[in-house]
Amino acid sequence: MKRRTGESAQRGAALRGAETFPWKAAVGRLLAWYRSSARDLPWRRDRDPYRVWISEVMLQQTRVSTAGPYFERFLRRFPTLEHLAEAETDEVLKAWEGLGYYARARRLPEAARAIRAAGGFPRDAKALLSLPGFGPYTAGAVASIAFGLPEPVLDGNVRRVWCRLFALGEPDGGDLRRRLWDLSRLAVQSGPPGDVNQALMELGATVCGPRRPACPTCPLRRECAAAGEGRPESYPVPRARKAHPEWAVAVALLWRGDRFLVTKRPPGGLLGGLWELPGGKVEEGESPEGALAREIREEVGADCEILAGLPVVRHAYSHFKVVLHPFDCRLAPGSPPPAPAVPHRWILPEERGSLAFPAATNRIFERRFAAEDLRAAEEPASFGEGERE
Ligand code: SF4
Repeated sequence: MKRRTGESAQRGAALRGAETFPWKAAVGRLLAWYRSSARDLPWRRDRDPYRVWISEVMLQQTRVSTAGPYFERFLRRFPTLEHLAEAETDEVLKAWEGLGYYARARRLPEAARAIRAAGGFPRDAKALLSLPGFGPYTAGAVASIAFGLPEPVLDGNVRRVWCRLFALGEPDGGDLRRRLWDLSRLAVQSGPPGDVNQALMELGATVCGPRRPACPTCPLRRECAAAGEGRPESYPVPRARKAHPEWAVAVALLWRGDRFLVTKRPPGGLLGGLWELPGGKVEEGESPEGALAREIREEVGADCEILAGLPVVRHAYSHFKVVLHPFDCRLAPGSPPPAPAVPHRWILPEERGSLAFPAATNRIFERRFAAEDLRAAEEPASFGEGERE
């Protein structure tokens, strides 16, 4: 007889627990709880695939409270798939500014064009998965919520619920992920798939939170192995945290008259397609001022003169941190004329709102232009003859 490998034996063990799990009863209680307790969120008001798609991409990277206003603004700017398919990447990045993970935003108009070319959203998960930017989570969410197909989802909230419900204490990895997807697949067989998926995510977000889960109010309390053990917070096992490197970066507000220089990042990679201030990494043994002079020479082909140091801004990305040292600068006397090798613009301070910048750059702007912004806000509006306030 063929022997089972360690992996399949372990996986089988998890699924054995799942086989005796009272799916119908538990999912029934979960759905009853969801229908009475779910938060009223803007993307839950209908099942339009376009709205479901946009909301799910946003929710993969941010909290519901942050995503709400972004979602409303995005839908005002691009109310339909057609509007998004016609959009320039820059416009989409501007609407996405501050949400992070800009690669996802860049792929939205690309996917919208593919969906339009196909005559609408495909109604099966495999075809959805082939669209630009669609991973298993997005495909599962759109297929189940918009089209009622029995397709699973797995996000951080659902992962936490499954790990606790079945007391899955192994470290994160391929084995665990496969089991969790298997559990999600079983769940959507036991009720309306879109509601089941949303109820699981809602439970993880509001009741079964990372700290102090509200077990006494949980509709799955009866079946929950971790709560039965009296230590729900021990699951899931925390992911091993890697130390994130920290880099110092010097950047310039390089002024020419009343305008300063901004450059555009290449379309791929981190913050791709966003605008930024010229500058770069401070190398070992270099001062921020020295690094800035070198970077401006390399990047802009000019020599700069520092006028003033501006407040330092710290920012954490998913895998590293930066400490930004901004400076007000102008071209040094006798400098060659600036000739940036990358797309660039010389903008007035008030024009910065029309371009998409990384969050850290916007924080530099907020501090640098706080006084000007306040003055502009306080200036009395001028009224034409006959107009009234
Ligand atoms: S009983 Fe507690 S630990 Fe278990 S799923 Fe519910 S909230 Fe989470």
